[in-house]
Amino acid sequence: MDPDSFRHYGHQFVDWLADYFEHIGQLPVKSAVKPGDILSKLPVEPPVSGESMDDIFVDFQQVILPGMTHWQHPGWFAYFPANNSPPSVLAEMLTAGLGSQCMSWQTSPAATELEERVTGWLRQMIGLPDHFKGVIQDTASTATLCALLSAREHATGFDANMRGIKDPLTVYASSETHSSIEKGMKIAGFGRDNLRLVDTRDDFSMCPKALEKAMARDIENGIKPSCVVATLGTTSSMAMDPVDEIGPLCKKYKTWLHVDAAFAGTAASDPDHRWFMSGTEQCDSFVFNPHKWMLTNFDCSVYFVKNAGILLRTLGIQPEYLKTGADQQVNNYRDWGIQLGRRFRALKLWFVIRYYGVDGIRKMVNKHIDLAALFAEWIKADPRFELMAPQQLTLVCFRLNPGNLPEKELQRVNEALLDEVNSSGEVFLTHTMLRGKYCLRMSVGQRTTDRVHVQKAWDLIRKPAEKHRTPYPG
Ligand SMILES: *Cc1c(COP(=O)(O)O)cnc(C)c1O
Repeated sequence: MDPDSFRHYGHQFVDWLADYFEHIGQLPVKSAVKPGDILSKLPVEPPVSGESMDDIFVDFQQVILPGMTHWQHPGWFAYFPANNSPPSVLAEMLTAGLGSQCMSWQTSPAATELEERVTGWLRQMIGLPDHFKGVIQDTASTATLCALLSAREHATGFDANMRGIKDPLTVYASSETHSSIEKGMKIAGFGRDNLRLVDTRDDFSMCPKALEKAMARDIENGIKPSCVVATLGTTSSMAMDPVDEIGPLCKKYKTWLHVDAAFAGTAASDPDHRWFMSGTEQCDSFVFNPHKWMLTNFDCSVYFVKNAGILLRTLGIQPEYLKTGADQQVNNYRDWGIQLGRRFRALKLWFVIRYYGVDGIRKMVNKHIDLAALFAEWIKADPRFELMAPQQLTLVCFRLNPGNLPEKELQRVNEALLDEVNSSGEVFLTHTMLRGKYCLRMSVGQRTTDRVHVQKAWDLIRKPAEKHRTPYPG
């Protein structure tokens, strides 16, 4: 493609995206295609001769777009947000254009040094002490895998002979922990049997007493606790594990403490919402995802470590062909994570933080938390509904409960409610299970979500509930 064509299509695509951002609210938020619909529209054989960009773009709009679920839709209340922003998209375009591979300082000094600077900004923004060093990873799952690997090296004194031989190494997390912990344990070779799921308190946060009991029992049996993963903002209900109480236990039992704040970390940028960070200065590693709630398009996860030396001893490599004269003076981020090749992710963070400022991010955080609190008030005020967990940050877990229904039937009623609400195309919510009870999750956090969209969701949720106006006979 010659530069003039690139310019032509580049302008056209940016125009298209600007229109998309402006009118996305009119699209159905959740794609309605059936499995295989899109596949059947795609030719089985690759094209032998090149095709025109016009034809490709027409197919993008006609074939691909109907199969997209619109995460940037203001009616996005499903899972967690993965919000982007125009400055982030523009930076990502520059990153793609530069096409640099940022595995070491020499392969793009600015990418390395910008990464060092923006992770330092983020560290200050969320209030971690200044000896924590940050590195950008693709996802929290990868960062947690790095934490587990570091914990294992730490527990075995970096002695490969000790590894996994007679002592199983155990990892502790609450029963509400994210699935990435179990996956990381499988990948790292701990074995899923060595994951101890610790009981939770009424608010679904980890019970420190139960944690200590589990660790002490293992030690009695000659098993070595190697890592505790505390979650700040669990996926099902945004529960906050008490890191300030877990930290001293990790110290007592010489156990690595990893904090998974993948979603909630962004809230810590506002001192008014930072209370859950209490005790995090004691952790060995900490992860949060700007790609969830911080206006930075996927993927971008930030991993902080207290002692970078341990991470480097765990993951560092020095093949001859990668050695450079600058190695003693710089960070080579390939040694701070799993992969060798690295995207230039720091650029979009730099654009986002500079464009919005810390204040802009705080404003958004507060807007979303206020909207979730408002929604929780509506739930509490309507006797047909019940809150299923304390409203925390941007998440409200609730269900329709017209009274006198067995648990199974309640689940069926709420599944039907969810289907009906989502089929409107105007909003998208998802569900979870809390202590065996089926709940709906209202998760606020898309950049452009405002009160009207939350009100719309509430109207849609209340409408099918009208059917249950008269309580069921017992
Ligand atoms: C989203 C989330 C994850 C997984 O994040 P990825 O970046 O998709 O790997 C892990 N833990 C928590 C608490 C999360 O909210």
